[in-house]
Formats: sequence, structure tokens, C-alpha cells
Amino acid sequence: MGKTKKVNIARSLYWRIAAVFLLTMSCAGAIFMYIATDTAEMYFKEASQNMDRDLADHIASHTEPFVNGEINKAELDKTFENVMIYNSSTEVYLLDQSGTILSYYAPKSKVKAEKVDMEPIHQFLSDTTVQFILGTDPRHPEDQNVFSAAEVRQDGTLQGYIYVVLAGEEYTSVVDLLKGSYFVRLGGKGMLITLLASVVLGLVVLRLLTLNLNRIVAVVRRFREGDHDARIELQSKGELTQLAEDFNEMADTIVSHINEIKSVEQLRRELIANVSHDLRTPLAAIQGYAETLAIKRDSLTEEQKIKYTTIILQGTENVKKLVDDLFELSKLETKQIEAHFENFSLAELLTDVATKYALIAKKKGIQFDTTIPRDLPMIYADIALIDRVMQNLIDNALKYTSEGGRVAIQLNSNSKGMEVMVADTGLGIPEDQQPYIFDRYQQVGAPKEAGIGLGLAIVKKILELHQTDILVESKPNEGSRFTFLLPTVAPSFS
Ligand code: ADP
Repeated sequence: MGKTKKVNIARSLYWRIAAVFLLTMSCAGAIFMYIATDTAEMYFKEASQNMDRDLADHIASHTEPFVNGEINKAELDKTFENVMIYNSSTEVYLLDQSGTILSYYAPKSKVKAEKVDMEPIHQFLSDTTVQFILGTDPRHPEDQNVFSAAEVRQDGTLQGYIYVVLAGEEYTSVVDLLKGSYFVRLGGKGMLITLLASVVLGLVVLRLLTLNLNRIVAVVRRFREGDHDARIELQSKGELTQLAEDFNEMADTIVSHINEIKSVEQLRRELIANVSHDLRTPLAAIQGYAETLAIKRDSLTEEQKIKYTTIILQGTENVKKLVDDLFELSKLETKQIEAHFENFSLAELLTDVATKYALIAKKKGIQFDTTIPRDLPMIYADIALIDRVMQNLIDNALKYTSEGGRVAIQLNSNSKGMEVMVADTGLGIPEDQQPYIFDRYQQVGAPKEAGIGLGLAIVKKILELHQTDILVESKPNEGSRFTFLLPTVAPSFS
């Protein structure tokens, strides 16, 4: 059902555009034909006015239209007839000074106007350079026609005008006849061929265009229906390529946003589940000891009271650390923590960190060594985040190494950057577990004092922000070594 609808959209679009296109082409053809025939007719008229410009003058000078102030009808009829026999397309009139028709040679019913507009006649007589003037056509007062005109004077006094319509009724009907053959010759061949070629070409181009449009419509529909892998692939490059590329880019953006929303949502669910799970055990312990203290306050020895209070304090500290770690990791994962890069001395940072851990190591009976070469270059990183990485790694090293063991930290500058190494002679990690220790909540048969498996996940995320990775080499019961590389900056001598 959806498919037929989809195909119909493109088809109906094709036919609609095709119909509009054909209509436009036909209108353009008709307009062209009209202009062409009209221009040709005007050309013929202009030519006849040029050729027979002096005809009226000639008639006026060879006839005497007025005798003793009266119209010389007999002579006029004879002259007019002669002229019209000689050139059947002309019609001759005698006008008075105001343009009223005094005499003509034709059946009376044919002449419909009584007066001729004098304005074109004056223009014709005053300016002989004008090539084309239209005046009244007495047989067809609604049309205008080309003419020749001349003054009729007797003893120097203006008596009237000889007015000759040059392309008269006869001529017009011949032109009408010619129009047929003109159309067949010019319009029928040249025009029709041009029109047909344009139509065929136009329809082919239109078909190609709607084919691509069809593809785009299909992909957009698939995407809307949930196929987020749907992308437009056009076979030919054209006007729609940009549209297709823009759609593909938009689809990529939407998909990446959807994935981001999904991962944030997943994270949120995990966070809630894990927080409630991880808090339950320490909170239950805290509650248990607090209740014992409250109920058995009087029967407990002073020593027991101190022990329980210490356990409760330790418990709350663990809960606090757990909550802090969870929030830090989730912020890192949802990219809400941004690294603030700056140049600083890792050697100095490490010296500070080492001072704190040397004490803890001493308490646990672990040898704690730091190897920091002199004149190390600065590194370009986020100082607070790298401090956190070092603390998490050293925390683990001390946590998983037993009395008599050794924890060593080493800095080493090479051509790739600053290599940082935290090694211990502790518990070690089985090889098959090593790939997973950086995942959140991943703990490898950890002893009781182990945390909740967030430390290394935080380390990895922070190093990802610094576009670097961490490497682990470890053997059970021999120890572990964590190494990573940080970018250095060239030492400045200024
Ligand atoms: P935890 O809070 O449990 O220490 P981590 O993410 O820091 O979580 O470490 C994940 C797991 O990797 C630990 O539970 C432990 O099994 C293992 N691990 C990490 N560091 C060491 C180490 N230095 N020696 C041995 N095992 C380690």
C-alpha cells in the first residue's frame, strides 16, 4: 500500500510538470506564430507604403477633381477606376479639408466611414522621411491601414485631398490567403520541428529529474519509518545532489543524536541501578552498627563503642567516595567534564603526590620508589585530571600489593612524549581479565579492601580526553605495570 502511494507521488509529479511544460511550449509556439505573421504583414504594408508613396500626388496632379468649386465626378470616377484597374489592392478617395469623404469609386455599401482621421494625413504630408504611417481605412473603420495622400489645390487654394488606401480590401484578402501558406512553410516546418525537439528533450530531462526525486522520496520515507541506515545514493550528479548530500548529513546528525540520547539514557538507568545496589551494602553495615550502638549503648564496652564508631565513619567515607566516583565517571562519560589544557611540570606534580603516598606505603610496609629524571620537559594536559589518574593508579598499586612488596613510579621523556609508568610487585591480574579491568564495575577476584571497580574506568576516560591510551602488563603473583604517554611541549628558553 505504502509502495503504490510512493510511486504515485513521483508519477503524478512527473505528469503534472510534463503537462505544464507542454502547455508552456504550446503557448510559446502560438505566441511566436502570431508575432511572426503579424511582423510579416507589417513588413508588407511598410513596403507598399514606401513603393506607392507618391501615388496620391500623381493622381492629384493628373486630374482636376473640382471644376468651378463642384466635384468633377465623371473625371474622378474614370481616374479612380483606372488606378484601381492598374493596382487592384488600392482604394482611392477624395476628401474635403476636414477629412469628409466626397467621392470614391466603389459600391456604396462597402464604404462604411464618412470621415477620415486627418492627423495621420498631416503627418504624412509634413514629414516625408517617416516610413510607416497608418491611417483610417474607410471600408474597415475598426482597422488602420497604410495610405498615400496629396493636397488638391486650385489657383493655389487648398480644396481637399486625394487619399489612397494602399493595402485595401483586395490586398488584405490576398494576405489572408498567403497566411495559410506562410504558416505551412515557416510554422509548419521550422516551428514544429523546434517545438518537437524541445518537447522530447524537456520530457527526457524531466524524467531523469523525477527519477532522482523518486529515489530521494523513497529514502526519506524509509528513514521516517525507522530505517536509520537509509541514505540517498544518486546515480547521476545534478541539481538534486546537494539536496541528497544535505539529507544524508542531516540523517547522520540525527542518528548520532539518537545514539547519544540512548547512551545517556542507558547511563542514567545503569547509574540508578548501580548506585542503589552499591550503596545498599555499606549503608546496611552503617545502619547495623549504628542500631547496635543505640540499642546496646549501656552494655557495650568503651572499646566496642570506639570500634563500631570507627566502622561507621569508615563506611560513610566509602559511601562518599563511591558517590563521588560514580558522579565523576558519569560526567566523564556524558562529556560534561571538559579538559582544561595547560603546560605544567609533571615532575613537580608527581613529587607532591609521592610525598603523600610514601607515608601510606611506609605504614603498609611497602617500598615506594619514584624515578624522575632531571630537566624533563613540561607536559600539555589538564593538571587536576592527571592528578586524579596518578592517584587512582598509585591507590590500586598500594591496594593490591602486600607487605614487603614494592611500588615504583617512573617518568621518562622520549620523542613521542612523556612516558608515565606505575608498577608494583603485587597480586597481578590474570591475562584473560586484563582487557576488562578498565570497564566500570570490573573487579578481578579482588580482596576485601578492593573498591567498586570505578578507578580504572575513570583513568581510561580521562586519558581518552587527552587522546591517549593506557597499557597494562601483568602476571598473577608477580605484579602489574601500567604505562601511558602524555604530550610534551618543547622547553622554552626565553
Ligand atoms: P577497584 O575500585 O576495584 O580497584 P579499579 O577500576 O581501580 O577498581 O580496578 C579494577 C580491577 O582491576 C580491580 O578490582 C582489580 O581486580 C584490578 N586491578 C587494578 N589495579 C591493579 C593492580 N595494580 N594490581 C592488581 N590488580 C589490579
